[in-house]
Amino acid sequence: MPANKKLLVLPGDGIGPEVVREVRRVIDWLDRRRQVTFDVEEGLVGGAAIDALGHPCPDRTMEQALAADAILFGSVGGPKWDSLPFEGRPELGILRLRKELGLFANLRPALVWSPLAQASSLKADLVDGLDLMIVRESTGGIYFGEPRGIETLPDGTRRGFDTETYSEEEIARVARIGFELAAKRSGRLTSVDKANVMQSGRFWREIVTRTAAEFPNVELSHMYADNCAMQLASRPKQFDVILASNLFGDLLSDLAAAVTGSLGMLPSATLGAPDSSGRRHALYEPIHGSAPDIAGKGIANPCAQILSFAMLLRWSFGMEEDARLIENAVEKVLSGGLRTADIMVPGAARVGTSIMGEAVVRELDKMAA
Ligand code: NAD
Repeated sequence: MPANKKLLVLPGDGIGPEVVREVRRVIDWLDRRRQVTFDVEEGLVGGAAIDALGHPCPDRTMEQALAADAILFGSVGGPKWDSLPFEGRPELGILRLRKELGLFANLRPALVWSPLAQASSLKADLVDGLDLMIVRESTGGIYFGEPRGIETLPDGTRRGFDTETYSEEEIARVARIGFELAAKRSGRLTSVDKANVMQSGRFWREIVTRTAAEFPNVELSHMYADNCAMQLASRPKQFDVILASNLFGDLLSDLAAAVTGSLGMLPSATLGAPDSSGRRHALYEPIHGSAPDIAGKGIANPCAQILSFAMLLRWSFGMEEDARLIENAVEKVLSGGLRTADIMVPGAARVGTSIMGEAVVRELDKMAA
């Protein structure tokens, strides 16, 4: 069992510190009951870092991040910093981490726990047991492509423009992550593009198809992005792993999150490329933001943050068994009828952040007994 892994915890702003606190209980539990010890460091990011050090991701945080084996990120942002100029905003903190750590593959599971199937915007039977993973390229494509801008043409009219651009390597490396993942799951990968109308889409399809040859056990299919959106909103259980560019992955993963109906339950991981020793940078965070409307009230759902930690154990440390234990503990707590306000249903017991966190640890205790 790996021990003394270096973990950097960046709680950030709003509900970030509240939900990260509940993960600390799980970390303590692993130390106490499973003899897995982490060297945990805390760092500053987002508005908290702006207030303390004048930058959303100070150099000290970058040094800690580069030295860490894995990063657990809370969330950043809030009204206090909304009036800052774009370059100084809390959200830039995560962008610096992604860029300088080379985190190019964003993994977003969309999972519907049976006790929560009623929370979906779709009929419960369409989503009950849904378990799909969206792999989104996260450092390239139209959000970063050049040229981009807003300009005035010689005739005095104005235009805005961006560029969708992907290199062979950018596509192949994120495709490999998708294929590896599919190989560990049901062996099916759906690659999404607009090869019918975009040159970059034709190229995406060509490179993904070529990369598929490295993974003979994975069945590859292609789907146009608009059709994929429609299928996700009508028959989401047909998918296992979906591979998409930055733009399409952004839209489709939010759609998949909406289908699950519970923002407070969804974790994510963003991975870099492995180096020659197999070590890779990785950052794990819930998909929700800092929820300023409920921050400080003690009512945030800590499950997405706890499940992000389970992903961290699985992806950064190969601790599949411990990751499953935590996921099962969360499911047991839900089946037992405890709910935070965001996933409340009639007849359930409404609890706050810390009672939910304690309940997860109690289930872990029972399972390990
Ligand atoms: P949000 O995800 O913070 O909140 C949306 C809604 O969901 C709110 O009503 C909130 O109360 C609720 N919610 C979110 N997480 C919850 C949880 N764990 N438990 C219970 N309810 C929860 O999105 P937003 O309101 O659009 O953004 C708020 C701030 O967060 C903004 O400053 C935004 O830029 C930032 N943000 C940060 C990240 C990040 O750190 N990666 C991601 C998204 C948004």
